[in-house]
Amino acid sequence: MIGAAVQQQTQYQPMTLITATAPMNASVHGGRAKCLQRLVRLDMPVPVTVALSFDTVHDIAKGRMPDMDSLLQPFGDQPLLSVRPSSQDPDWGGPSAILNIGMNDARHAAMARQMGEHAATALYLRFVQSYAIHVARLDPEEFYLPDVPDADSLRAMLDTYETETDELFPQETRVQLSEVLRSMARAWDGTTARLLRQAKGAPQDAGLGLVVQAMALGVGKGECGSGVIQYVSGDTGLPQITGRYLGQSQGREALGDADGAIYLTKDARGPSLEELNPDAFEALVAFGDLCRKHLREEMQIEFAIDADGLHVLDAMRIQRSSRAAVRIAVDLATEQIIPREEAVLRVEPAALSEMLHRQIDPRAKRDVIVSGIAASPGAAVGRIVLTAAEAQASAARGEPCVLVRRETTPEDIRGMHAAQAVLTMRGGVTSHAAVIGRGLGVPCVVGASDLSIDRKHGRIISPDGRSFAAGDMITVDGTTGQVLVGEPPMLEAALDSAFQTLLEWADAFRDIGVRANADTPADARTARNFAAEGIGLVRTEHMFFEGDRLGVMREMIFAEDGDDRRSVLDRLLPMQRADFQALFEIMEGRTVCVRLFDPPLHEFLPSDKAGLRDLAEQLAMPIAEVAERVDALSEYNPMLGMRGVRLGIAIPEIYDMQARAIFEATAAVIKSGIDITVEIMIPLVSAMREVELVKARVDGAATAVMTTTKTQFDYRLGVMVETPRAALRAEDIAAHAEFLSFGTNDLTQMTYGLSRDDAGRFMSAYVQQGVYAEDPFHTLDIEGVGELIAMGAARGRIGRKDVILSICGEHGGNRSAIAFCREHGFDYVSCSPFRVPVARLTAAQLALQSRAKTVTKAPLVT
Ligand code: PEP
Ligand code: MG
Repeated sequence: MIGAAVQQQTQYQPMTLITATAPMNASVHGGRAKCLQRLVRLDMPVPVTVALSFDTVHDIAKGRMPDMDSLLQPFGDQPLLSVRPSSQDPDWGGPSAILNIGMNDARHAAMARQMGEHAATALYLRFVQSYAIHVARLDPEEFYLPDVPDADSLRAMLDTYETETDELFPQETRVQLSEVLRSMARAWDGTTARLLRQAKGAPQDAGLGLVVQAMALGVGKGECGSGVIQYVSGDTGLPQITGRYLGQSQGREALGDADGAIYLTKDARGPSLEELNPDAFEALVAFGDLCRKHLREEMQIEFAIDADGLHVLDAMRIQRSSRAAVRIAVDLATEQIIPREEAVLRVEPAALSEMLHRQIDPRAKRDVIVSGIAASPGAAVGRIVLTAAEAQASAARGEPCVLVRRETTPEDIRGMHAAQAVLTMRGGVTSHAAVIGRGLGVPCVVGASDLSIDRKHGRIISPDGRSFAAGDMITVDGTTGQVLVGEPPMLEAALDSAFQTLLEWADAFRDIGVRANADTPADARTARNFAAEGIGLVRTEHMFFEGDRLGVMREMIFAEDGDDRRSVLDRLLPMQRADFQALFEIMEGRTVCVRLFDPPLHEFLPSDKAGLRDLAEQLAMPIAEVAERVDALSEYNPMLGMRGVRLGIAIPEIYDMQARAIFEATAAVIKSGIDITVEIMIPLVSAMREVELVKARVDGAATAVMTTTKTQFDYRLGVMVETPRAALRAEDIAAHAEFLSFGTNDLTQMTYGLSRDDAGRFMSAYVQQGVYAEDPFHTLDIEGVGELIAMGAARGRIGRKDVILSICGEHGGNRSAIAFCREHGFDYVSCSPFRVPVARLTAAQLALQSRAKTVTKAPLVT
């Protein structure tokens, strides 16, 4: 075994001529070297290339040069060479390639005779420029390429080099090459390069290989030139030959126009490579096909054409948008080039999230007003409005708007519906604005605490002092957390057939359910369109803010006694029943889990003078009395006060009404032939007796409805585990609950003792200083909150063997939370409707990865 390891190591030489059989490995020589070997194996005309291993480049950085004679030997006399980086994963980047090493005065003179003064001088100038900037590290400002490459401009550039370095421009190939290698090796060790590659996932000790290649200049007799070609669009992933060809006969100017036109195929705008050199074009198309089949990727090929024919210099994975990444993976699997498992593994789940929303074109310029927390992805443009009422008025006029608030409250819900995007100064990823924004699919940035609102003058002021008035156009980028001036170019959402296909494949591999948190028919429709297996959380309180219900709700709160309250609730009952019936109809054949009323009552009451006056008018009560009652209801710490099941026990009429509405809706849809599984969930439980009490009343309501409607139906009653005590007491709670759904928002809040609405103020300081690795409201804290969940799940299973387990907090769509739930044998996760596709893909990837660790993600880097 040891002997084999030594042999393995000694197989790799410091430098290796790339041939079909040379020992070569991406983890030793880098992805580019390995890819070039694959091209050689496919019989593509790759110029002579030597690969330097990571170890060799590491030695070079330390000043230990390889044997330059051996390195230069395969290239013959007076070579012209290029050196390119070859990191293990091409995405990790590397120093810029340097071309035309070997150019010197003598070579210039000889080439001028062969190909003309103009072309030879242009080549030499380009080499001196890149050598001066990248190797001698001189000021780029001093080394502009002249408009006319002539003897004078060449002399001037060489003079500048000599003045700046006090040395003559090196004439020996060996010297030039050694210096190029040294500068590239050192650049890899620089801080900027290290940080950039680590941001792309490269390990600390990621190595750099280099490939030294004989230049194919694309100059000489006949149709000569050089270019790049790719076979699918980087935007859509659909077949389309694009690229660029610089023909010598056009003075090496691009054929076609400069605005991204197709230069390679026959085109009305002028001669194309296809017409100028049909054989080379045909060969290039065939090479693309070979790459797709054998490298199992869509590649961009860099090529040159000269008197000796076509040369393939390099091939790279094409740069691609998220949409194209999905299309390419699906097409490769459909053509049976890669298995479906690999297609599912190749797409980043975050890419799906981008596809679901409009995005700012990554090429657009960004004039940033302020940065906050990216709370709901996608980008939207609109005019600034500062109140929910203005948002509604703006929507009524058909004008897109962005609702800017210090923070949103349930009263803002209609304004949020009406707005294209929401921006708040306060709050974190589980704040009201964030949760509603995600639910509605409305882009949202929260916690932009550096922004100030000047209500009096109707404007907002950016941290750099710029002022933007209500009515000014801004753009909210909920994907990055930035808010921008004006209206940058956008990329539209792209839910094409490839997206659907990929998710269908993902579903076949995944082993955990995915439901959606949905409160409204629109949410439920979105959830269904994204193939959620059901609704895991209907937050019923959102229903009380709609239309004229808020008024009825306020009357209920102000009712003198139980009878009065019941009579007001009787008016809410048909509204709730209609809400549930609509959800059940949309979710036909699936499960809907309705959570009973959760928030503190005072959330339904006005907080300012104008609101109090309105309410006094509505209730025909003196304003002082109204203010007194509102005051009496206010709590020091409402999130830990009279909410959830506590309210259900103190004022049971609310839950009675809700249970009846749920069951009457169930009976109604059953009668119309709709199959639905109904679940009722009790929030904020901390003691078993709470469940017993509520269960008795809910069961009573079910029996009553079955009798009056003459129907039979089943339902499940379960508990939301969102207090630490509920997790600790899960065993006896589960004895009365058929399911336990972990509400990780409140559970995180209470485990940390951290207000979910206020944590945004100091979270970035905490994360920056490493107090928390991540915002625990965003990424499930596996160590702490996870421990409680695991304990709760295990104890719950003791109380009831077949208890159904899930999570429904905002973490439900995150990779680490889904992985955690799979590991602990949970039945499903529930997340915002727009995160359902991401969760489906993530769950499938996790299942595939744990099933077969050998399936590779990116074939070119292995
Ligand atoms: C939770 O607490 O995790 C939860 C889902 O409920 P809410 O966000 O409505 O408090
Ligand atoms: Mg909660």
